[in-house]
Amino acid sequence: MRHRLLAAVAAAAIPAAVAASQAPGGQEPVTVLHAGAVLASPGEPPLGPQTIVVRGDRIEALHPGFRPATEFGPDTRKVDLSRAFLLPGLIDLHVHLAIDANADAATSHSPERLALSAAGYAARLLHAGVTTVRDVGDNSGVTLALRDAFARNVLPGPRVFAAGRVVSRSGGHGARRPRQNEVPYAPAACDGPESCRRAVRENVEQGVDWIKLTVSGSGRESGGRADAAPIMFEDEVAAASAAASQAQRPVAAHAYSPAAIRLALASGARTIEHGTYFDDETAALFRRTGAFLVPTAYVAHFVRTRLDFFAGGTDGRDAEDLRAWSDAAAQTPGRAWRAGIRLALGTDGGPSFPTDATAREVGHYVEAGVPASEAIRAATANGAEALGLGDVLGRVSPGYLADLIAVERSPIERPEALREVVFVMKDGIIRTSCGPDARGCAPRGDDEAPGRE
Ligand SMILES: [Zn+2]
Repeated sequence: MRHRLLAAVAAAAIPAAVAASQAPGGQEPVTVLHAGAVLASPGEPPLGPQTIVVRGDRIEALHPGFRPATEFGPDTRKVDLSRAFLLPGLIDLHVHLAIDANADAATSHSPERLALSAAGYAARLLHAGVTTVRDVGDNSGVTLALRDAFARNVLPGPRVFAAGRVVSRSGGHGARRPRQNEVPYAPAACDGPESCRRAVRENVEQGVDWIKLTVSGSGRESGGRADAAPIMFEDEVAAASAAASQAQRPVAAHAYSPAAIRLALASGARTIEHGTYFDDETAALFRRTGAFLVPTAYVAHFVRTRLDFFAGGTDGRDAEDLRAWSDAAAQTPGRAWRAGIRLALGTDGGPSFPTDATAREVGHYVEAGVPASEAIRAATANGAEALGLGDVLGRVSPGYLADLIAVERSPIERPEALREVVFVMKDGIIRTSCGPDARGCAPRGDDEAPGRE
C-alpha cells in the first residue's frame, strides 16, 4: 500500500526528466558504456566487464564483455570506462540545499540569494556523483523551484525530492529564535492537531514530495537527549501524519530518543532521521514497520570539529555533552546494522559542507562496522527504496533510470574511492566525465548543459 502511494508521488516527479532527455526530432540518443566492473545490484558482488546500453533516460540492456557501439545503431556514442568501476548514482536522503550555515545575514534572509547558493551547491553535488537527494527542510520554498529546474534541465543538479518547510511546533527544533548570526528558521507551525493538519496541507499545496516532522529536539539541544520526551504531542504527530498520508506524502521524522522514535514509527514515519539513541524496543519497531534509519554520521563528525560553535545557547548542550552525542551518533550506523534495521544514507549537508560528504558518510558507516557493500547499498538501492522508487532507481538494471557513476577503484575494497568520481550520468545524460575520451575532468553534457560556478 505504502509502496503504491509512493509510486504515485514518483510518477509526478519523473515525466519532466523523461521529456528532457528526448533529442530534437524525437529520436532517443543511445550511449554505450564499456565498464570494467559493475555494481549492478548493490549488496551483491559486482559483475565483471559489461557493455551497458542506455537509450534516452533508461538503461536498456547489460551485456557481458565489451560489444562494439555500432551493434546498437549508427549514431551510438561509446564511453570508455573499461578501467573504471561503475555503480548507481549516490542517493543522499538528508540534505538542506537552501540552509547555509556559513551564509551572511543578507543571504540567509533572501530567497533569491539562497536559491543561487543552493543551485551552486546542488551542481557540485551532482558533479560529485550524488544524482538524487531528498531535501528535508528549507525555510523559503526555494528547493521546490530548484527541483523543477533540475528536472527540466534548466540547471544541472540532482533529482530532488523536497519536503519544503519543516513541520515543527513553536519553540521546538527548527523553531526557536535564532542566536546572532545563526540561520533563521521559518517552519510550518504545528501546535495542536488542527494546525498540524494545516501545516502539512499548506506544504502539500506548495508541491512538496515529503513531509518532515521534528518529533524530538535538535541533537544540539536538551530535547535531543537520550532520555528526552518527544517535543510534539501524540495527537499532533498523529494529525500531521494522517494529513500526510491523506495526501500520499511519506513522512521523514527527526527523532533522537527512544520515546520520540517510538512515537514517530507508531504514526507511520517512513524514515527516522538521526535516530541516535534507538534501543532494543525501537529496533524491533523498525524491523516490524520496515522503516529506514538515516543516521547522519557525517554531521556528528562535523559538529565534533566545532564544539565551541555548536555548544551552549538558551537550551543548548555543553561541549562535553555534545562530544558524547557525537561519539554515540558516529556509532549509530554500526549499531543499526547489527540490530537488523534497514539503513539509508544522508549527510545533513548544505552549501557549507564539502561536496564529497555523501561519499564520506559511506566511509563513516564502514568505520562504524557496516560492511562496505552494505554501506554502498544504503547510499543507492536502499535510498531508492525509501523513496518508493526501488523499481526505477538505485540499480544498474534494464528499465531503470540511467543514473550512473564511475570511480577508479572498487569502493567495496576502498570506500574512499567514492570521493573521486570520474563519470556521472543522470537521466541518460553525461554530466561529468574524466574518462579517457573526455576533455578534462569537468561537467559536461550532450547539449553542453550549463557549467557550474
Ligand atoms: Zn537535517
